[in-house]
Amino acid sequence: MTATPDLPFLVAGGGIGGLAAACALARKGFPVRLFEQAPEFKELGAGIQLGPNIFRAIERIGLKADLLRDAWVPPGLEMRDALTGEEITAIALGEPFLKRFGQPYAVTHRADIHGVYLDACQGNNLVTLENNRKVEDFTDHGNAVSVRLDDGEDVRGRALIGCDGVWSRIRGKIIGDGAPRVSGHIAYRAVLKRADVPDDLWRADVVLWAGPKTHFVHYPLRRGALYNLVAVFHSDRYVEGWNTEGDPEELWKRFRGQRPEVLRLLERIETWRMWVLCDREPVKNWSQGRVTLLGDAAHPMLQYLAQGACMASEDAVCLAEKVAATPEDLPGAFKRYEQQRYLRTGRVQIMARVYGEFYHASGVAAELRYQALHGRAREQSYESMAWLYDGM
Ligand SMILES: Cc1cc2nc3c(=O)[nH]c(=O)nc-3n(C[C@H](O)[C@H](O)[C@H](O)COP(=O)(O)OP(=O)(O)OC[C@H]3O[C@@H](n4cnc5c(N)ncnc54)[C@H](O)[C@@H]3O)c2cc1C
Repeated sequence: MTATPDLPFLVAGGGIGGLAAACALARKGFPVRLFEQAPEFKELGAGIQLGPNIFRAIERIGLKADLLRDAWVPPGLEMRDALTGEEITAIALGEPFLKRFGQPYAVTHRADIHGVYLDACQGNNLVTLENNRKVEDFTDHGNAVSVRLDDGEDVRGRALIGCDGVWSRIRGKIIGDGAPRVSGHIAYRAVLKRADVPDDLWRADVVLWAGPKTHFVHYPLRRGALYNLVAVFHSDRYVEGWNTEGDPEELWKRFRGQRPEVLRLLERIETWRMWVLCDREPVKNWSQGRVTLLGDAAHPMLQYLAQGACMASEDAVCLAEKVAATPEDLPGAFKRYEQQRYLRTGRVQIMARVYGEFYHASGVAAELRYQALHGRAREQSYESMAWLYDGM
């Protein structure tokens, strides 16, 4: 069979994962064509936490400084009891954290991380970005792939990377595990201007208020100009949906009786956006011939470890390195990428569910949480996260 080194890599999806993949491949010298179904490249107005592992990964493609430019580096992470106000645990993120992990912990606006990858792609003439183009289907011809777009055009490439998110079509064909699992947890998100946050409620840290079947997180964004709020609760009202407007009635019902610091911040919000949180069981056979998956398409996870975008970025760097090592054997490179990634991403998928239970504990489980976390030495807290933050 004739090799096809002149054809571009095809990427389905222009979210954080797709753009990161396109950028990482182009930085290794490979041409890429990326198809995004939406009319423009855009991320939603909300915050995102970035563990040290993402910085270790993207340092390898030269984007760490860009990602930190508009980010906020909080001095600490804090968990408080949403009913009593008591501190459950606090983890310092300053010098000792930097020394231990060699990388910072930061928070940023989703549009900012997406924008870093988008700018890097737009500034690289090996990447072609195409909007309003939905990937409907693909065929692996053995020596090349082709994708069918929604306008009927067939496009050929040397390989296909499915970065089309939790409802991935490409995954449907490779793994075929049906619809994602609806967790029964809902997230309401909002971003306030700094001036709209009362001074006595503004905190430089990432603060998580843990309540029965709820939690509430807040932190500053964009070098402190904005304030991000995320309220999560258990609900059986919605089965599916993405970025629709939330219903404040239900929110108030779920957070009734919680600390005034929580309720006063919730009161500041006029419009919430709502996410129905979904994930999937971990799998490993996500590469088949010249087609592979990346990011949420490969391993969608609940957000309780704040790692979905971090894992997608790690995937992108790993994939580009495997491809660059054996460009003449893409099916082999994709398998080696999958082999290196699936246990790590599977562990995050599973542990994210466990953390969700932990945050939402009540009664004896909440007491046990307090006993396990309160008064831990700094080093103990760091070591408990080392499996995740030392990675990549
Ligand atoms: C409430 C919440 C909080 C989170 N917090 C964090 C956090 O703090 N830290 C963190 O690291 N992660 C976090 N995440 C996870 C993170 O947002 C996701 O894991 C990450 O955005 C996934 O990126 P992706 O590119 O794989 O998928 P997506 O962002 O879903 O992008 C997929 C893209 O593909 C496009 N597409 C889909 N189908 C097609 C098609 N057929 N053809 C062409 N284009 C297509 C879509 O339009 C979309 O642009 C959070 C998630 C949620 C819901």
